[in-house]
Amino acid sequence: GKVIYNGELVERENVKVDIEDRGYQFGDGIYEVIRVYNGGLFTKNEHIQRLYESAEKIGLKIPFEKEFLCKKLEELVEENQLQTGIIYLQITRGVSPRQHGFPTPAVEPVLVAYTKSMERPEALMKEGAKGLLVEDIRWLRCDIKSLNLLGNIMAKQKAAESGCFEAIQHREGIVTEGSSSNVFMIKNGILITHPAVNLILNGITRQVILKICKSKQIPVKEEAFTVDDLVNADEVFISSTTSEIMPIVQLDGNKIGHGIPGEWTKQLQQYFMEEIQKECKN
Ligand code: PMP
Repeated sequence: GKVIYNGELVERENVKVDIEDRGYQFGDGIYEVIRVYNGGLFTKNEHIQRLYESAEKIGLKIPFEKEFLCKKLEELVEENQLQTGIIYLQITRGVSPRQHGFPTPAVEPVLVAYTKSMERPEALMKEGAKGLLVEDIRWLRCDIKSLNLLGNIMAKQKAAESGCFEAIQHREGIVTEGSSSNVFMIKNGILITHPAVNLILNGITRQVILKICKSKQIPVKEEAFTVDDLVNADEVFISSTTSEIMPIVQLDGNKIGHGIPGEWTKQLQQYFMEEIQKECKN
């Protein structure tokens, strides 16, 4: 299919990565993953907004207007006839002889986006997934959606090797987030999640969940909580663009609650579905 390369729709085979692209050499760039349901982009503006914020935080100037980029992404989905799947988009600081400091004068950033067909993980969302607790070894700017994902990758691999779906990270006993998701717990009818500070990525799915809670008057606390709190929670779930609201029914082999998806989690999954239907009807 087609891909976007620096603002143009082109055939994938025609795009080549330069060996001195700073994304390739340093992970010097940012990215987004956007869900497509029924051919429609879900929370498109929120993702584009976060992309520009990430760019700003690393001193990268995106050479396109938000509106232009949105239009191109919609064209890409249309052209590739994507129904249910994702768009992956990344921007690197560009191509320049290897040296750590930013190129001076600045070079053109390199933007790439492509689509991938991907079903919703419906079976696992119904059944619940297993989590593994791991130490959060990442840097202190996890609020940036950076291409540098080694910490996340190492955590996810550890989880996979233990037969777990996600690694739930903690810093000195405080639960931060999953390797590619945000973490929520429910205790005594209150939904609790880590505040959106430098230690986590403020997930778009997280933001949608908080918005739902506000409109449905579900009590929420954006407060740090401990591994001990998590293990003793009534319900736990993770959230992400690709996994939506995924119940966590086991942590390190121990059951959470009754070891099945909880009622609050299932209710939120239902509300989330309604958000998808509102935004991406067909
Ligand atoms: N935290 C991390 C570290 C992630 O990689 C992701 C998803 N890529 C999330 C949280 C969830 O963010 P979103 O809901 O925007 O997909």
